[in-house]
Amino acid sequence: MQQNLSHNAQTALPSDCLRTRTHLHAFVDGELTAHDDAGQPLAVMVAAHLGSCERCARLERQLHAMRAALRATGRRERSVVRATPSLRARAAAILSSH
Ligand SMILES: [Zn+2]
Repeated sequence: MQQNLSHNAQTALPSDCLRTRTHLHAFVDGELTAHDDAGQPLAVMVAAHLGSCERCARLERQLHAMRAALRATGRRERSVVRATPSLRARAAAILSSH
């Protein structure tokens, strides 16, 4: 029984992590203004989870770094505002590998 539990912990994310990751992009963008069913701001839920979950906190830092890279690209090439294919691939890889 205990072996099964630890095995699951490595292969499946807790529901709190999945919920956090659903909203993480909007949270990093400062656009997470919705509330959950209990009337709690989702941003508060995400922030609380990031404070207690190192895996999700690391993901948030990677998203912040990627946003910074996108802003730098936008300053260099002012006509290009979309994410480059390589950045999109990196984002997809990061989101699917944690
Ligand atoms: Zn988490």
